[in-house]
Amino acid sequence: MQKPFEITVLGTSSATPTRDRNPSAQYVRLDKHYFLIDCGEATQLQITKYNLKLQKIKYVLISHLHGDHYFGLPGLVTSMALFGRVDPLYIICPADLKPIMDTILSIGDARLNFDIHYIFTNPNQFETILEHSDFAIHTVPLKHRIPCTGFIIEERGSERKINVEACERYEIPVTYYEKLKFGEHFMNSRGIEISNETLTLPGYKNRKFAYISDTIFDESIVPYIENVTMLYHEATFLHDRLARAQETFHTTALQAGQIANNANVKNLLIGHYSARYLDLEPLLLEAKKMHLSTYLALEGHVFQLNS
Ligand SMILES: [Zn+2]
Repeated sequence: MQKPFEITVLGTSSATPTRDRNPSAQYVRLDKHYFLIDCGEATQLQITKYNLKLQKIKYVLISHLHGDHYFGLPGLVTSMALFGRVDPLYIICPADLKPIMDTILSIGDARLNFDIHYIFTNPNQFETILEHSDFAIHTVPLKHRIPCTGFIIEERGSERKINVEACERYEIPVTYYEKLKFGEHFMNSRGIEISNETLTLPGYKNRKFAYISDTIFDESIVPYIENVTMLYHEATFLHDRLARAQETFHTTALQAGQIANNANVKNLLIGHYSARYLDLEPLLLEAKKMHLSTYLALEGHVFQLNS
C-alpha cells in the first residue's frame, strides 16, 4: 500500500471570486504531513466545507503576493489561534509577506500561542527550501508580473515492497514484514542472515507534485518538473486569448498542455481559470490536445497521486 498523497482543490478562480469559484488554494496531504498551497480569500470556509483539518496544516506555501493567492492567510492564522493552536506553523513565502502579516496580526491584537517560522523563497533560482526525512519542498522560479515561485513536494524515503514469494520460501513471519519494508535484514533460527534485497523489491518511485502558478508560458521550467506524478499548471485563458495571456503573464490551456507534454509528466491538473469562463470544458479539451491525461481542478475534488 502506498502512503496517501492527495490534493484537495479549494480554489480555482484567477483574480476574483465568481459565483461558483474561489481564488487559489490547494490542501495537500502526504501521509501524516499536511500542506496548504496558496491561500485565497475563501480558504478557511472551503476547509470547513470539505471537512478538512485546519490545525493539521503545518506548512503553508505562498507562491506570490497577488491578493488572490494569500488574502485568506491572516484569517486562517487568526482562526488557528482562536481554536487553541500551540504547534508551530511554517510559512514558505516571499519575504514581503512577513511585515504584512506582522502588521495585521499586531494591530488586530491576535494573540498567538504558537510560533510562525517564515522561510523566504528566492524567485530567481531553483532551490530545495525544506528537507524532511519523508519529503522535500523545492521552489521553481516563475515569470510573472511580480516575484513568484512554483513548488514541488517530493516524497522521500519510500518503502520497499515485500516479495511475498521469497518471504514464504524463507519462512519469514508476517509480523516481520514491516521491518523488511524499512530495509532490515532477517536472521533465521539457524543464525543465517537473509538479506533485505532477497526478501523485498524496489519501492515505489518517489512521487512528486508540482504546483506552477502564476506564470507566463515558460519552457525553462521543464527540466525541474520532468516526470512528476502530477503537475498543476495554471491555464487562465483559452489559446484564442493568447495576447491577453502574454500581457498579464499568464498561460493558456494549450500552453499548459504543451509544458506537461514536454516535461513528460504523468498527469496534468489545470486551474486558475479566468472569471470569463462559465463552462470549463473547452479549457480541458484544449489542454488534452497536447497532453491526454489532463484533469480540471474543481473545488472539493480530491486527486490521488499514484506512482
Ligand atoms: Zn498572480
